[in-house]
Parts: sequence; C-alpha cells; structure tokens
Amino acid sequence: MYWQNNYEPGSIASIVLLLRRSVQRFFQHWTIALQFTQSEAKGRTLVRSYHYSAIMKTLFLLFSLSFVTTISIAQQPDKYILLKPDRVFDGETMQSGWVVLVKNNKIEQAGAMIFKLPAGTEIIELKGMTLLPGLIEGHSHLFLHPYNETSWDDQVLKESRAERTARAVNHAKATLMAGFTTVRDLGTEGAMYDDVGLKKAIEKGVIPGPRMIVATRAIVVKGTYGPKSPSPDVELPQGAEEVAGLEELSKAVRSQIGHGADLVKVYADYRYGPNGEAQPTFSQLELQSAVDIASGSGRKVVAHASTTEGMKRAINAGISTIEHGDGGTEDVFKLMKEKNVALCPTLAAGAAIQQYRGWKKGIDPEPQSITNKKKNFQLALQTGVTICMGGDVGVFSHGDNAREMELMVEYGMKPIDVLRSATSINADVFGYGEKIGRIKKDLFADLIAVDADPSIDIKNIRKIKLVMKDGVIFKKE
Ligand SMILES: [Zn+2]
Repeated sequence: MYWQNNYEPGSIASIVLLLRRSVQRFFQHWTIALQFTQSEAKGRTLVRSYHYSAIMKTLFLLFSLSFVTTISIAQQPDKYILLKPDRVFDGETMQSGWVVLVKNNKIEQAGAMIFKLPAGTEIIELKGMTLLPGLIEGHSHLFLHPYNETSWDDQVLKESRAERTARAVNHAKATLMAGFTTVRDLGTEGAMYDDVGLKKAIEKGVIPGPRMIVATRAIVVKGTYGPKSPSPDVELPQGAEEVAGLEELSKAVRSQIGHGADLVKVYADYRYGPNGEAQPTFSQLELQSAVDIASGSGRKVVAHASTTEGMKRAINAGISTIEHGDGGTEDVFKLMKEKNVALCPTLAAGAAIQQYRGWKKGIDPEPQSITNKKKNFQLALQTGVTICMGGDVGVFSHGDNAREMELMVEYGMKPIDVLRSATSINADVFGYGEKIGRIKKDLFADLIAVDADPSIDIKNIRKIKLVMKDGVIFKKE
C-alpha cells in the first residue's frame, strides 16, 4: 500500500474474524451435539457433555469478545477537526466563507458551515490565514544537498550512503515543515534505491516527511552521464543506472519497477557532446519502449530533456512530463500541448547554479541563460502548456521549495496559477488527483495554513502556520 494510514483496522478486523470463527465453531458443536442427543447409543454421554461444554465455552467467548470489541471501538473514536480560516484555496479557486472539517485522515466537509458539527470536534481558528491543500513538490532530490556546499560529483563519489540517508532524513522533515506534504523525488543520484526505504520510514511514522512518489535510480545511456572520469582507464560510479541498447533499457525499467519505483525517469539528453554540450541520448524507439513497459505496469515515464531534439523524441514517445525543457521552441510546446505533456521548468535550479557561479542577482547583469529561460517559460505559458511546479530542489536547500513558486511569478505567471500548479495540477499530472492536491471531500487531509493571501503575494506561501498531513498535525503556530 502506498498511502499511509494512521489507523489500524487490523485490530478490529482480527476481532471480527475471531467472532466469525467462534460463531462457526458454535454451530459445528451444536450440530454434533444435536446428533448425539438424538442418538440412543450408550457410552457417549461423556462425548456429549464435551460438546455441551464446548458450546458453553464458545458462548462465553462470544460474550467476552463482543465486550472487547465494544471497548476497542470505544477506544478509537473518530477524530474530527474543524479548520476555520479567512479563506480557502481549494486547489483551483479561492473561496471565502468556507470551513473545512477533517475526519481522521480524510477531508469530510469543505464549504459553508451548514452542516452539523459532530460531538467532540476540535476547532482550530485560523484568523487572517489562508487554508490550502498541502503543496506538492514536482521535482525534488532528497538525497542531494546544495552544490555550493558540496559539488554534485563529490556528493555522488565521496559521501557514504549512510551520510546521504542521514541528510535525506533532515531534508524530508524540512520539506514537510515548509508545507510540502508530497514530493515527486526524481532520482537518488547514486544512492541506489534508498528513496524507497526513506518513503517506507515516513509511511511507518519512523520519521516525519512528505508523501513520496519515487523514481529510484533513473536511467541514462552508458557514457553520457556523470561523474565524468578524469582518466579513460578509470570507471567511476554513476549518478544513475547506465544502459546501452534496448535490452538493457527494458531490463533497467523492469528492475527499477521491481525495486519500488512509482515512476521511471529517463535522461533524454545530457551534456556529453564533443564540447560538453547537451545532446540527445536515447533513440525514439528506445524511449518508446521504456514508455510501453512502464505504462503496461500503470506507471508514467518522465524525461529530463533540455535539447529541442531530446524533448521531441520524449514527447513523441508518450512520456508524461518534460523536466527542465530549456530547448523548447514554439513547435515543441505546441506538440506538448497536443500530446498532453506537462512541463516542469525547474527555474530555481538554473538560477541557483548561476548564483553559485558568482551571479549577484539584482546587482550584476542577468546571465544569458536566465534571460533565455525566462523567454522559454513565457513561450510555454503563451502556448498553453500545462505547467508543473518543481524546482529541482536539492540543487538548492530543501525547505526552500517556495523559491520555484516565487520565480514562476517573477517570470510571468499569475500567483493563483502558481498555486494551482503546486496543488491540483501537480496531483493530476502525476496521477494522484483522486487522493491529494485539492480540498475536497474524501481526499487525504493534507492541509496547510499560511498567513495572509498567497494569491495576492506569492511570498506569503512561506508564512506557514499549520501543516497537517494525513490528518496529523506536524506544525501549528
Ligand atoms: Zn533533477
């Protein structure tokens, strides 16, 4: 099961099972006892009395069990919480005059206060605040930390798996406390399948963290990814699973699925050209094959792509999202719209890398790559491409996920549209729209409250006052 649950129906279910067995035993003994009663055979009185005593025992057990069941149910009453903010962003629209009732780990009611409040409901006043669905980070790497602390190469090559996991635990907590109740984590970058274990630990309540949609290792074409070896004689461990050819690719897709991947990430291009420039990697046929295998298992394929050709191949192959997309032309964006492929622009990663290289934003002239990225993003918006919210966080600090949302506004998107991207759009694009991303009856109670109105000023999304995930409050100020 992917989604965690705070309740243990197992205990009640097991009592119900016991009761059912007791009833079955009761009738078995009763039937046998009746047969003996009708029989005139001598010497069977003892056997008969055994069956009668078994019946009495069963009756007693039944009585005790029903008592235990009553107590057990009484010990786990439904928990209701009523949230009363100034306004509610339901994932699509800003609503006023709404309250939200949470029952256990689900949303029970959302709308005007016209329903009867169950007895014992806890009421949380959220004066001056906006209630939103828990935010969804569309592109994270919980196993990476900012490159200005340690270069990507050194993280992959010199940090132990234990160190990387220890860091990931901190990152998961920081992410949740920043209001991001779900992450789509797009590759462990050399930490093998540790995202699967991290996700399990969060689900079991061992550590606090967001829901995780995981990619595991990601797949690259042999010889194209990194870290790059300084010597042709030395092969270095890589930040993703290398494959050469269709057979190895299909094996890697199936193996990653088997190890717990919720989706498959491929690198449709990478910086391995003769001058270090980005070039396409997989052929159209290979990408198509990866999509065929993954979709047959009910999983989506996402593609890292920043060249025009890499994007085209990935889109035509039927992948679900393009990550980065710097090489998007008008034609490519039209194709994305036509094929219902979403763009996860990762504006914050590009800006962070320029800043690590010395760019002082607001003081120095804007680097060409930033100017290009702005134009590219605006072109995607104008063409009507579905935009995901995902910053490639890990390149910059976990918990600072809102940076991407601020840049989306800075580069030309309306704050309300950015809020949609970070909630309902991400949920729908990732295939989780029936569980998260909206404030709607029966969805998981992943809710956050922020001071003031983030649809007026997106910076308000950082003013986190309440974080609830799966009905559990992790932060309340
Ligand atoms: Zn990434």
